[in-house]
Amino acid sequence: MTHLIAIGGSDAGISAALRARELDPSVNVTVVVADRYPNFSICGIPYYFSGDVTPWQSLAHRTTADLEATGMRLRLDTLATGIDVAGRKLQLRNPDGSVEDLGYDELVVGIGALPSHAGIVGLDQLGAEDGVHVIHSMGDTFALDRHLTERAPRSAIIVGAGYVGLEMAEAFTVRGIRTTQLQRGPEVLSTLDPELGALVHTELDQHGVEVVVNSTVKTIRKTAAGLTVTGIHEDAPFERTADLVLVVVGVRPNTALLEKAGATLGPGGAVVVDEGMRTGLPHVYSAGDGTITHHRLLGPTYLPLGTTAHKQGRVAGENALGGDAKFAGSVGTQVVKVFDLVAARTGLRHHEAAAAGYRPLTTGSSADDHLRYYPGAHPISFRITGDHRDARLLGAQLVGRLGTEVAKRVDTFATALYAGLTVPQISELDLAYTPPLGSPWDAVQAATQAWEAAAPGRRASARNASGAKPQTKPPMLAQRDPSRTQDPRIDNA
Ligand SMILES: Cc1cc2nc3c(=O)[nH]c(=O)nc-3n(C[C@H](O)[C@H](O)[C@H](O)COP(=O)(O)OP(=O)(O)OC[C@H]3O[C@@H](n4cnc5c(N)ncnc54)[C@H](O)[C@@H]3O)c2cc1C
Repeated sequence: MTHLIAIGGSDAGISAALRARELDPSVNVTVVVADRYPNFSICGIPYYFSGDVTPWQSLAHRTTADLEATGMRLRLDTLATGIDVAGRKLQLRNPDGSVEDLGYDELVVGIGALPSHAGIVGLDQLGAEDGVHVIHSMGDTFALDRHLTERAPRSAIIVGAGYVGLEMAEAFTVRGIRTTQLQRGPEVLSTLDPELGALVHTELDQHGVEVVVNSTVKTIRKTAAGLTVTGIHEDAPFERTADLVLVVVGVRPNTALLEKAGATLGPGGAVVVDEGMRTGLPHVYSAGDGTITHHRLLGPTYLPLGTTAHKQGRVAGENALGGDAKFAGSVGTQVVKVFDLVAARTGLRHHEAAAAGYRPLTTGSSADDHLRYYPGAHPISFRITGDHRDARLLGAQLVGRLGTEVAKRVDTFATALYAGLTVPQISELDLAYTPPLGSPWDAVQAATQAWEAAAPGRRASARNASGAKPQTKPPMLAQRDPSRTQDPRIDNA
């Protein structure tokens, strides 16, 4: 009977194990997990701290018992320390410290990523017991939780204003902790254009988060007053002190095991795989945050996301049983809630598209989420990037109030990117409409029409990526619903 071992108990490892058991209930599946928290939702940790999700056990997608009921065997608190590829053996360190060689027929490695330290001096010496935290595992979660409950910090510095940093800024603020957010770049949420990041910045301001952009943190040290962070702010030295410091400056792929076993590293230092998640080492697959991501517009890249880890793990689990599944590729769709605002993106931004050899045109616009005469309409701000030559959609960014369905609207663009649609083709989609929820031309289409208006001559020649000529209509801005009061604002990047 085939013995499949999945290393890693999070999105990638568990997805692989579940898929294998689903396809062949006779297959022998062992999941090796460094801690005792398999299948916990890392993505939900900020909502445990905000108090939206309690108790912490609720973060489990499935309990240990649920997982074992599928027939997989869990080896918890067990560290994989080496792979003998030729002998098809995995070296393990058991919870009691003993070491063991465990034979496998097929191996899926899903050991994820590790928090980045971004070269900050002091981070190697200071840890959770000193009040300096990272947030990537349930262990990190418990350490921060202990700090918050036992020491009741009144102030916090968050280094980094990406997705996780913003979610944690909200959580700390909701708990009454005075929060300072330090961001290296000129605007928060640097994965969006600064025009949209500025809206998120305003939201943070309005909820009392002190945001300091253009601040590069160099050191963290313990002082009599607490924890002192020093660095450079707009060419001048700066210093801030707080009771707690949380460093959330991204992740780096955890490749130690596979690198030692002879796997190749690629973009971002992640393990190279083919579209079937094969590492090139016989019988060894890799999935999740330690692995490169095939991006449908960029090719191989590094884009660690939970959605991707789930899909890659499923492909690896299927192929480990002899299947021929393919990871269809990511388009980099991401969304975050920051207090009462939602920010999302998919595909490429202007500069990313230009660097990849596209000829981007980017327009900014704004349209109400539903008809203004129906109460509660709010604008959604868009930035649409399309290729100037063939009008192919390259990317979309959106920011709107919670409730304006930004997350689902970005999915329309993600679907269009997957299908290789042109921007004018999105204007033609049959999207849902009723006054309390949308407009005859959905906000998504107001944004694509704004792009079309800025790309004169594009409509007639627009072709989709497969070369098909879309059925275009006369200019739509002239035909827009007269009840719409807000015209798209155009600004070319
Ligand atoms: C706070 C936070 C919020 C996030 N929010 C989102 C979100 O909203 N949307 C989104 O798409 N993504 C989000 N992400 C990213 C997402 O969580 C990751 O992309 C995802 O968890 C990756 O899954 P993975 O299985 O590849 O690795 P990981 O989740 O990193 O898990 C690695 C697993 O391997 C185990 N392991 C490691 N080394 C060994 C070893 N040597 N032996 C045995 N086991 C080992 C670990 O214990 C763990 O079980 C968030 C991340 C964080 C930290």
